[in-house]
Amino acid sequence: MKNLWNDGEAEKLVADYAKKGVARDLALRVYTTRLLGGEPRLVLHGGGNTSCKTKATDLVGDEWDVLCVKGSGWDMGVIEPQGLPAVKMGALLKARALDTLADEDMVALQRANLIDPASPNPSVETLLHAFLPHKFVDHTHSTAILAIVDQADSKALIRTVFGNRMGYVPYIKPGFDLAKVAADVYDADPSVEGLILDKHGIFTFGDDARQAYDRMIHYVNVAEEYVAKNGKPQPARAALPATLATPASIAPTLRGAVAVSRGEGRFDRMISDFRTSDAIVDFINSAAIADYAGRGVSTPDLSIRIKTGPMAVPAPDADRAGDYKAVIKSHVDAFANDYRTYFETNDALDDVKRTMLDPMPRLTLVPGLGMFGHGRTLKDAKIASDVGEMWIEAVRGAEAVGSFYPLSKADLFPLEYWSLEQAKLASNKPKPLTGQVVLITGGAGAIGAATAKLFAANGAHAVVVDLDAAKAAEAAKQAGNNSIGVGADITDPAQMRAAFDKAVAVYGGVDILVSNAGAAWEGRIGELDDSLLRKSFELNFFAHQSAAQNAVRIMLEQGTGGVLLFNTSKQAVNPGPKFGAYGVPKAATLFLSRQYALDYGAHGIRSNAVNADRIRSGLLTDAMIASRSGARGLSEKEYMSGNLLGQEVTAEDVAQAFLHHALAERTTADVTTVDGGNIAAALR
Ligand SMILES: [Zn+2]
Repeated sequence: MKNLWNDGEAEKLVADYAKKGVARDLALRVYTTRLLGGEPRLVLHGGGNTSCKTKATDLVGDEWDVLCVKGSGWDMGVIEPQGLPAVKMGALLKARALDTLADEDMVALQRANLIDPASPNPSVETLLHAFLPHKFVDHTHSTAILAIVDQADSKALIRTVFGNRMGYVPYIKPGFDLAKVAADVYDADPSVEGLILDKHGIFTFGDDARQAYDRMIHYVNVAEEYVAKNGKPQPARAALPATLATPASIAPTLRGAVAVSRGEGRFDRMISDFRTSDAIVDFINSAAIADYAGRGVSTPDLSIRIKTGPMAVPAPDADRAGDYKAVIKSHVDAFANDYRTYFETNDALDDVKRTMLDPMPRLTLVPGLGMFGHGRTLKDAKIASDVGEMWIEAVRGAEAVGSFYPLSKADLFPLEYWSLEQAKLASNKPKPLTGQVVLITGGAGAIGAATAKLFAANGAHAVVVDLDAAKAAEAAKQAGNNSIGVGADITDPAQMRAAFDKAVAVYGGVDILVSNAGAAWEGRIGELDDSLLRKSFELNFFAHQSAAQNAVRIMLEQGTGGVLLFNTSKQAVNPGPKFGAYGVPKAATLFLSRQYALDYGAHGIRSNAVNADRIRSGLLTDAMIASRSGARGLSEKEYMSGNLLGQEVTAEDVAQAFLHHALAERTTADVTTVDGGNIAAALR
């Protein structure tokens, strides 16, 4: 691993922060924290922390000796000074004399001694940093170090690799007890340059930022070199089927299998992030992959991301694709059953009241293909994949020099079910559509964009499909929540298919279709050019059918139901003069909606329509409004609010109706009218 310290860059950061009133110590602390945090083989998604002992002044001008230590929620790779809250050292040091300190009391002590009470919670490893006397302390979960410490006889191997230069700390759950033992290990031999924490990671320290950082990189390199020199040849590879199924062909099945059933066709769904590379596939193809996966996580805090470890499934044979659904289901069931047993066994050991987390895997390893990270959001799914890559690194190293034996699951349990994590559950309520994927055609138009925005605000990831790729991307960006735009001419079945393939590639599947794209052509029906009517049918009927077919194909593979929503317009039930080219296919689409409700209700797939009218959009432009209102001798306002309520209907009102249908879990074959009230168009 390369040492990235650069005098010029360090001094530049010190100078830049000096202008903002940040002292040199803290600026350098930010500098090396970012160096460490930018390297996933050292620090990943919260797994590591740093500190420096310095001085800080409070609001009344008193100066205190403080520990500036990484605050929870901050990413070390992009940390800022406020991500290293200052805690008064005096109180922290006094705590070392205590015999016990509950986690909640430890957090309270740390918070009560913050210089700035608005700071994030100081790291759970704060006391360990405080009890060591060095000015700068660095802590990482280096994958090379984990290869050495995740062994059955790790203590001896640690001695072999590091000699007496590093202190050995047995595994203890992070918190007060670990801090005390680590400090005792240091006190017993103050000549050490750092501490190796069994089954956990590494601390290095120094008088200045550079020394602590140099030592971290040095000892990580010692571990890397040991693995490189002493590594055994790679283990045997499993035989793979002659033809492998593609990731896209198994993604919806897998995504459906890991959804959490709330009973009676209701599900908490997950997003799947597919990740692959030669290194990933090479490792996952090992004949022993299921064995490795079953042994657990490489460092305990990963349990918050991937629970008790990955799930390995067999390689998918393209020639036996039909059987693979059952294979996946049986593996997910086994994982979930093991997880329940793990929870029940460990929960029964004391009287603490705990809420079991869902038992589904967060990382699936598929030989021949790669891995799928699963999470309630795309962000969480990607984090699971990131963690998977580092798990592979650590296990590969551990197996090269011995045998991967990480922390036991019994010891993992108190961390996954740490009381402070459990306390967060109540406040982390998901949004109504969290975990769901909505594909919206005509997604860059007024109604489509408003729908994408509303669904994303309610937790869904939106796939915004539009003829204009740039506008689709812009609407997706406006919607937010990691939504994506796809350019497609949806009257071309191949392009429609590609849009759904994209949804599967990015999120693992689709749960909601908003089939919204449409265009109006005018002319008296008896004199209409045949080609124009056919063109209208392509977009206003067949594209709806093609979208629904694709959605249903994926929904059936997922096996978690779904919703088809069609924009059928008022024209479907109440024809306007010279509007037949538009109204006739829309009437067919209304019927289509009911046909899907009938044919797929037994699979939990709902189908509903929304009849909207007189919405400012590409179909009813400002110029058209001006000419039509003028022709009727009305003002634009009177024309647009010519309904029973006397109020203009907006694209957002239509989006609200689609949202209602997405959430109404027992409503199908329904039509909702969004027109401000038009008795002639009222459905009977
Ligand atoms: Zn740690």
